[in-house]
Amino acid sequence: MGDGPASGGSFSQSVVEKEFLALEAEIGEHDRRYYGEAAPTISDGAYDALLRRRQELLSLYPDLQKRAAPRTVGDDRLEKFEKRPHRRPMLSLNNTYSEEELRQFIERVERLAGGPLSFAVEPKIDGVAVSLVFRDGHLAHALTRGSGLEGDDVTANVRTIKGLPFKIPEAGQGILEVRGEIYIGREDFALLNGQREEEGLEPFANGRNLAAGSLKVLDPKKAAERRLRFIAYEIGEGDSPFLSHGQVLETLRLWGFPTNEFRMGLGADGVWERIREFGGRRQSYPFDTDGAVVKVDDRPLRERLGSQATAPRWAIAYKFSPERAETVLKGIRLQVGRSGVLTPVAELEPVSLAGTTIRSATLHNADEIARRDLRIGDTVLLERAGEVIPAVLGIVPAKRPPWAETYRYPDRCPACGGNLCRIAGEVAYRCLNPDCPPQIARRLLHFASRSAMDIGSLGPQRVGQLIEAGLVRNFTDIFHLQMDSLLTLPRTGEKSARHLLDGVEGAKNRPLWRLIHGLGIPHVGAETAKALALRWPSLEKLANCGSEELQHCEGIGAIVAASVQKFFQDDRNGRLVAELKMLGLRTEEMAVAGGPLAGKVFAITGTFSAYGREELKQKIEALGGSVRSALSRQVDLLLVGAEPGSKVIEAEKLNIPIGGERDLAELLGLSL
Ligand SMILES: [Zn+2]
Repeated sequence: MGDGPASGGSFSQSVVEKEFLALEAEIGEHDRRYYGEAAPTISDGAYDALLRRRQELLSLYPDLQKRAAPRTVGDDRLEKFEKRPHRRPMLSLNNTYSEEELRQFIERVERLAGGPLSFAVEPKIDGVAVSLVFRDGHLAHALTRGSGLEGDDVTANVRTIKGLPFKIPEAGQGILEVRGEIYIGREDFALLNGQREEEGLEPFANGRNLAAGSLKVLDPKKAAERRLRFIAYEIGEGDSPFLSHGQVLETLRLWGFPTNEFRMGLGADGVWERIREFGGRRQSYPFDTDGAVVKVDDRPLRERLGSQATAPRWAIAYKFSPERAETVLKGIRLQVGRSGVLTPVAELEPVSLAGTTIRSATLHNADEIARRDLRIGDTVLLERAGEVIPAVLGIVPAKRPPWAETYRYPDRCPACGGNLCRIAGEVAYRCLNPDCPPQIARRLLHFASRSAMDIGSLGPQRVGQLIEAGLVRNFTDIFHLQMDSLLTLPRTGEKSARHLLDGVEGAKNRPLWRLIHGLGIPHVGAETAKALALRWPSLEKLANCGSEELQHCEGIGAIVAASVQKFFQDDRNGRLVAELKMLGLRTEEMAVAGGPLAGKVFAITGTFSAYGREELKQKIEALGGSVRSALSRQVDLLLVGAEPGSKVIEAEKLNIPIGGERDLAELLGLSL
């Protein structure tokens, strides 16, 4: 008896069916994470492997089709964004990892076309596809792919992208659609992750997720900080006069769009050669690339070739295989974060992968270890695609030594012996001991970090020494340090001690937001701290603020508000605030308070000819005013531009004064 389709016994059938349904569920879950939350938990390669297995089962057991969920292009629509239909469906591309399948694609297309064809080959940017719709030469909407038929309107965030033309007078009257990819450059990504680590947050796994997430933040100011970029690669099909893909890219470039490089290849050999060329240079691109896109150059021919359900017939994405390596899991170390969260880290036999030596990899949490049944001594499979942090894909069962034992997650903190607890709704374990040394060290390091109080001479080694010598336990201790006690530390001369004391003295006068950030309130990063300091220019006032009041601050949601309130409700932190003030730290902000719009609260609706929304907000803030996204009785004036929204009616109900373009000019004119 074989186990192929011919056998068809009820036993094998039910086993197969079980596998298939499990696969469906797993793929569905990954789709939701990838498209809906932009936070995938497996690599693209592993995901594609699941899809392939699904396809394989379907072709072996066609009966399974009845149990199959319809596969569509991934859906990234979110409820909070306005939806708009695409003028033409925004399809995804079929993709392949194999040269053979690529050649089959070319053969198929050439057969359909009835002769040899010329193909355009370009590097595939690992970003997020968007459609920009221009009306009479002005950007009207930017839409995500969404369901393929309709997408989320992310125009406000797309407008923050530098180097993207928002007006193309050359395009003339009518509608023009430009498609392309939004991404975060590799250098910017490294920079953003550096900042994140300083804030004690887990680094972003890769640029693609970050770009997708940034496009979906509700505050365009936050989106602007993510330094999104755009590369154009297509002009909407159908109503455009272009004959070839090369002509399209040339035109886009002339209009001022950043475009990708491309090569022409004739037939399978030519295309393959171009792909290999791009592959050889993939590390040198400013963006992450995971392959190459191959398209029929002739546009009228594309129209004739048409599309299948979810992908056009005239294009394919060839994906580079992610680099993989095997190595031995030597141990699992638990790293204690500043809020006590334990992160298991795999200690690996050093192995070279995609040009770097890998010695460790995060294992995320206890559940992950159990789910994969990772044991010390196991041979693990590592994968690194592009700039993604290396991930442990799984184990190689055949290489498990007989002595390998199941890993037992400790029930006490490995650093201090304190009790561990798992907070409801979180996967992580936390050490509850506030005196746990690594927690203290991380809190102090965060406080002194460049994005907080910026005390340069207070690095990891120095902090370790100070804690060990019993000189420092909390933030206030830093400001009690004395020359003579510092001189008792190993390898510390008068010069370095003086340097440290000067640094500490200098930190007393940092802007308030740095202090707020340095306190390490969960969920409060540098940007949130800035928003808080702008609204409450006094640490005492902030500490006594109610959660509802907090939520009315621009950019502060319920989670952050609750976290801030909880932090200051803790008596120890209340005392901390008083002590910091007594020690002479700057806990009040004076600077903006003197501006001509000081204390004035504004709301905005509609568009203004002189400024974009974000620019306008910055102008008002620079003059000491503040801008809220929602109307409330605290708002002093609603600025109404062209095509205003429902805020006008709301303002009338709440008796809030309304001002137009001229009032705005007058307000801003105060500073001229
Ligand atoms: Zn501990």
